[in-house]
Amino acid sequence: MMSVTPIPALSDNYIWLLRQDTSQSVCVVDPGEAPPVIEFLERESLNLESILITHHHHDHTGGLAELIKRYAPRVIGPANPAIKGIDETVEDGDEIRIMGRLFDVIATPGHTLDHLSYFAAGIPALLFCGDTLFCAGCGRLFEGTPEQMYTALKKFAELPEDTLVFAAHEYTLANLTFARAADPENEDVKHALQECEKARTLDRPTLPSTIGRELNINPYLRVGTDSVRQAAGTQGVNHDDLATFTTLREWKNRF
Ligand code: ZN
Ligand code: FE
Repeated sequence: MMSVTPIPALSDNYIWLLRQDTSQSVCVVDPGEAPPVIEFLERESLNLESILITHHHHDHTGGLAELIKRYAPRVIGPANPAIKGIDETVEDGDEIRIMGRLFDVIATPGHTLDHLSYFAAGIPALLFCGDTLFCAGCGRLFEGTPEQMYTALKKFAELPEDTLVFAAHEYTLANLTFARAADPENEDVKHALQECEKARTLDRPTLPSTIGRELNINPYLRVGTDSVRQAAGTQGVNHDDLATFTTLREWKNRF
């Protein structure tokens, strides 16, 4: 059984640590900085076997150099020369084996053009989606188009509902506050917001989420519902799902 543990980093990042049963060899996803990872590995006497990278932003790659120097792990990620240290570049459709689990590489451009996500089928199914899908939200469009991001999110919507969603940031509270405005008739959002406020007061992570939960509370996955479409219509275009998505994403930027 694979366990996945959050290592909080920087202001609101999670570096996810994957461990198979009691193996001493582990993998981390998107190490934005090295010290909290090193501290965790030392405390638990673990060895860093591999690193997965979703995209080039510094808050996901900043710890690479130091971790490579110290542990010489296998480093897997997108073929982007801006990321120093990747020795195994992967692309959409590739499969990689990490500590006994097979991961599908899924291209999910939108936040950045190089953005990849990693999905492992099985029990439980695992999704590492970086800054593409967040709990109740999605990443900002820095490099890609709304259409690219919407296409990426639709790929996630097809995954099994019990898939655990390991997003890279603790943005849930702000996302749910926006979701309450963008999906005003959704009681699940109101309930999730209360739960999230409680968790954050206790300084507990609100992740992982699940695909099933996201289908219920994430406005960007609910652009086809009357509630979201009508709310988007008060802010911009909503003539089809992509237009509604585009309006939501722009609305969130100024929310
Ligand atoms: Zn990013
Ligand atoms: Fe980020």
